[in-house]
Amino acid sequence: MNDQELVIREALLTWYQKAHRILPWRQSKDPWQIWVSEIMLQQTRVSSVLNYFPRFIERYPHPTALASSDEEELNTYWAGLGYYARARNLLVASKQVVDLYQGQIPNQPEQFAALKGVGPYTKGAVMSIAFDLEEAIVDGNVMRVFSRLFAIKEDIALPSTQQKFWDISKRMVKGRNPGDFNQSLMELGATVCIPKNPNCLLCPVREVCTAYQSQEVQKLPFKSPKSKIPEFEYYAMVLRDEKQRVLLGLRESRGLLGGLWCLPMYQSSTLFDLKEEIAQISHAFTHKKWILHLYAFDQSEIDLKIDLSGEENQRVRWTFFDESQLSDLAISGPSLKALLAMNMKIKIRRGAGQKMLDLEKGK
Ligand code: SF4
Repeated sequence: MNDQELVIREALLTWYQKAHRILPWRQSKDPWQIWVSEIMLQQTRVSSVLNYFPRFIERYPHPTALASSDEEELNTYWAGLGYYARARNLLVASKQVVDLYQGQIPNQPEQFAALKGVGPYTKGAVMSIAFDLEEAIVDGNVMRVFSRLFAIKEDIALPSTQQKFWDISKRMVKGRNPGDFNQSLMELGATVCIPKNPNCLLCPVREVCTAYQSQEVQKLPFKSPKSKIPEFEYYAMVLRDEKQRVLLGLRESRGLLGGLWCLPMYQSSTLFDLKEEIAQISHAFTHKKWILHLYAFDQSEIDLKIDLSGEENQRVRWTFFDESQLSDLAISGPSLKALLAMNMKIKIRRGAGQKMLDLEKGK
């Protein structure tokens, strides 16, 4: 570790002791709680996770509790957080912990990293925070902070640049309180060294921040212009039976939206040609965007056997639901937005995605 890295490490540790936010998962060293929080926090804001974490831990206080649950129930505790593959992986991993380690989360980094869904960042975070091991972390926050602190001007999407970040992180995590040091990096990235308009005047390391000293903060981190994410159009059917119940299908657990309730969807507009489009919604996933055209149907207009037999709607369990039952279901993000756009009264848990709340409010 060079002098600059040493000074930064000490300053961040001191700052973290005083300034860190009190968050539920920071109240204990329980590796399960730390693991769950880290998984929930991937691609998701702290404010959203705060609405899900306590309820999840109350229902699944240890890996054994989750291992004996099933995907359908788990999805009701995850619905609204998005990125459901995270939840499915956590379920598989909890079973691995029960089968391989008698329900105890291993404190050997290699063993922990071999569990389903545990990547290098999660390994570093859980091992350092729960077990005080000198395990490094690098994620988007850490890359941003390091690129500014050390004025690293290479494209942060390049593997060679990311290797640089890992090398720095591995050097700097060595020493006292590795878990607190990692958390201080996360905290700085989340509260001070934020993407736009970082709060350099309140930053505990501005005296030794290369980008601040050379007035290059606004230029970093450097990312080459992103290619536009592809858009896909789908046609969705809001189908009611004679009791005004709505048809939803539970998708099999693999793949995008697996294990979630969805409206019948089609890639082709053939079925809808003579119908009037009622609404259009869009939904962004990490690497693609869906545009969903919505159409209302009565059951009498449809032959369920034929019209639900297409590729998009196979391996789906279809059920009609009263509107009053919809709030209890784990409904996929796009279908939830569609149902809200149809003015259905569905209670969304707070934090279930600002876009959905905006839609609910008619914005
Ligand atoms: Fe980030 Fe500014 Fe602090 Fe540098 S001085 S680490 S740019 S907040």
